[in-house]
Amino acid sequence: MDTNPKPPNTDVDTTPPAPGDLELVRGFLSLHDHVEGTRDSLPPSSETITWWLRDRGLLAFDEAPTEGDLRWTTGILEALRSRVHENMGQPPDPGSIDALDRAARETELSVDFGGKALRAGASGVRGAVGRIVAVAFLAELDGSWDRFKECSSPTCRAVFWDRSKNRSGRWCTMKDCGNRAKVRAYRERERTSA
Ligand SMILES: [Zn+2]
Repeated sequence: MDTNPKPPNTDVDTTPPAPGDLELVRGFLSLHDHVEGTRDSLPPSSETITWWLRDRGLLAFDEAPTEGDLRWTTGILEALRSRVHENMGQPPDPGSIDALDRAARETELSVDFGGKALRAGASGVRGAVGRIVAVAFLAELDGSWDRFKECSSPTCRAVFWDRSKNRSGRWCTMKDCGNRAKVRAYRERERTSA
């Protein structure tokens, strides 16, 4: 029996992984739901978040997150997404920065000189999210954060790590959203030239 079945509305993440620990951040920020028969990516439900944290080994099976924990987690997810939007030219959102500073305290992040790491002292969901916030913070320091972008497709919430040399990537995957955009642009050109 599958002990961690994927909730029915959780969309499959087809975006290529980001390097190392950054993949933890990318996967978290890309979480979204998709309702059959509709086009849009929706923010992840509580079920999706819980499933993913367990799938990545960040949350034990006997830890049952409360609705409050999950609302808090969604807040951190959106705050990190707003830092991604900043990479794409949007102005910084002071509310999101405050939320992340607060999250560092709430997850009891502390410096481990010996292990050369940031560690989350909190347990359960807070500890899990603390690990993600720690990776995000270090990525901002070393500049690797700047490559995170949101897919340019208006119906896609996926976040990708732009590996292109000149940072010109626009789509979560060339195969899916990239191709759809190419086909759209082609049809547009056909129409205007006709
Ligand atoms: Zn996409």
